[in-house]
Amino acid sequence: MPFRLYRAVLAALLLGLATLPLPARADTPLTVVTSFSILADIARAIGGERVTVESLIEAGQDAHGFEPRPSDIRRLSEADLVIVNGLGFEGWLERLPTSAPVIVASRHAAILEAGEDDHGAHEPDHGPDAHEPHDHDPHDHGPMDPHAWQSPLNGLHYAETIAEALSAADPQGSAVYETNLEAYRQEILAIDGEWRSFTASLDRAGRTVVTAHAAFNYLAHAYDLHFLTLAGIETEGSISAHDLAHVIEEIQEEGVRAVFFENISDERLLQQITSETDAVIGGTLYSDALSGPDGPAPTYLALLRHNLSVMRQALAPMR
Ligand SMILES: [Zn+2]
Repeated sequence: MPFRLYRAVLAALLLGLATLPLPARADTPLTVVTSFSILADIARAIGGERVTVESLIEAGQDAHGFEPRPSDIRRLSEADLVIVNGLGFEGWLERLPTSAPVIVASRHAAILEAGEDDHGAHEPDHGPDAHEPHDHDPHDHGPMDPHAWQSPLNGLHYAETIAEALSAADPQGSAVYETNLEAYRQEILAIDGEWRSFTASLDRAGRTVVTAHAAFNYLAHAYDLHFLTLAGIETEGSISAHDLAHVIEEIQEEGVRAVFFENISDERLLQQITSETDAVIGGTLYSDALSGPDGPAPTYLALLRHNLSVMRQALAPMR
């Protein structure tokens, strides 16, 4: 081919390429970075093979008091999309730069104020003692309860928001995301139905349980349960001997049958409670983090099913 013609063909090809839309990220999956493990799992479930997802806070790790590492800054800088919970759960994120769109997964969820539906003896502690010494940003402890994912129907809102964000970032995948979302929706509606039929059968004592930190207000609100908690919505708060005595008194008065460990919190106080009351250890509820792949809650749907089954076993009406 004469050189001049070759150049003309090449120029035409390049021009053609430049005006065509980019060929669907078919070979390069979308890089999604989430703040914590539950969001990472929902993003994987909706994104399937079109996304690679990394979580800054890993499975089994407590999100409260998380300190980002240099590797987290690098991961954020490489992200196409960042997904966070919002509601003050990731106060540390404001210090980290990212050029990717940041999606707030709780955007369409039904939100409770901190302390709402929490009839615990120990109200969420907003006092200065609960803060890290360097941590005076009021956004770290906002007035909203961040644990919205504990209500299955809110989890569905999370999945819808994530599907919408993935479609916006990768329009060619939107049919895949929509299909995956629909399957997810059916699973969550089934879990919600099971919670409803289980809790409909409970008496007052069976509706009241004890946990370490106030992570389950959304579950309580959704299914008319009553959680007594030892600490507020943060996991680092402590309880005084006086407050502990009050909780123990309340447990006896209400005939509480079970106290539950959480996968992220200290077990000693709860063990002390069972030694001083008639309540028994009901098992471990997963609150703010998934388990590892071999644990009982390696995915968000597994977490919801696990918590339901642990509560059902501990609270099933005796006799
Ligand atoms: Zn929490």
